[in-house]
Amino acid sequence: MRILIAEDDELIADALTRALKRAGYAVDNATTGSEADAALASQTYDLLVLDLGLPRMSGIEVLQRLRNRKSTCPVLILTARDGVQDRVTGLDAGADDYLTKPFALPELEARVRALTRRGTGQGRVVMLGPLRYDQADRSVTVDGHSLDLSARETGVLEVLVLRAGRLVSKEHLVDHLCGWGEEVSLNAIEVYVHRLRKKLESCVENRVESCAEGGRLRITTVRGLGYCMEKPDANANL
Ligand code: CA
Repeated sequence: MRILIAEDDELIADALTRALKRAGYAVDNATTGSEADAALASQTYDLLVLDLGLPRMSGIEVLQRLRNRKSTCPVLILTARDGVQDRVTGLDAGADDYLTKPFALPELEARVRALTRRGTGQGRVVMLGPLRYDQADRSVTVDGHSLDLSARETGVLEVLVLRAGRLVSKEHLVDHLCGWGEEVSLNAIEVYVHRLRKKLESCVENRVESCAEGGRLRITTVRGLGYCMEKPDANANL
């Protein structure tokens, strides 16, 4: 999941970026309205956190231009406590939710989770054979046993599970995992996938029943192209 934070207040932007990265999102930060507009026009985001008082182009204009491009990206606006008219204008212009400054980080995180969940158009829970992925808290279980994954491993698994049965390129995974100025090499992606496979294998290995039902969880490497999380049903037919 990739989030754009459009906020010119450095302290707020830093706090938001740190909190959302810790929660496992890839985060980009734009400090002017025109920078945010350019980023939104060239890249797909899962959520925009938008301060309305931005230099060069107002938050409202950024939002209007986004909706004029027919983007359905969920938008959470940040407004001043006394900005009732701002909130009304923002919601009328197509924002999905708002928070008034100052706000508590846990509240922001809860709203971000709710909006990104809505934006994916998928249910809260994705089942793949014995694997269960909960988008709300990003938890993973196999046959009811929880899988202990790092934020990056969860990020990789999330993309693969949501696109199960389809090819996912390494570049797409890099894109999904990093914000601007962060580096994750293609080699690092290989390491995350390797660790994921090990963890999935050790979790499934003792559960003969679900494997016999074709519940094997397999991440296939498509040489030179990327990875594919096979759908367990497809495995059963092999
Ligand atoms: Ca501002």
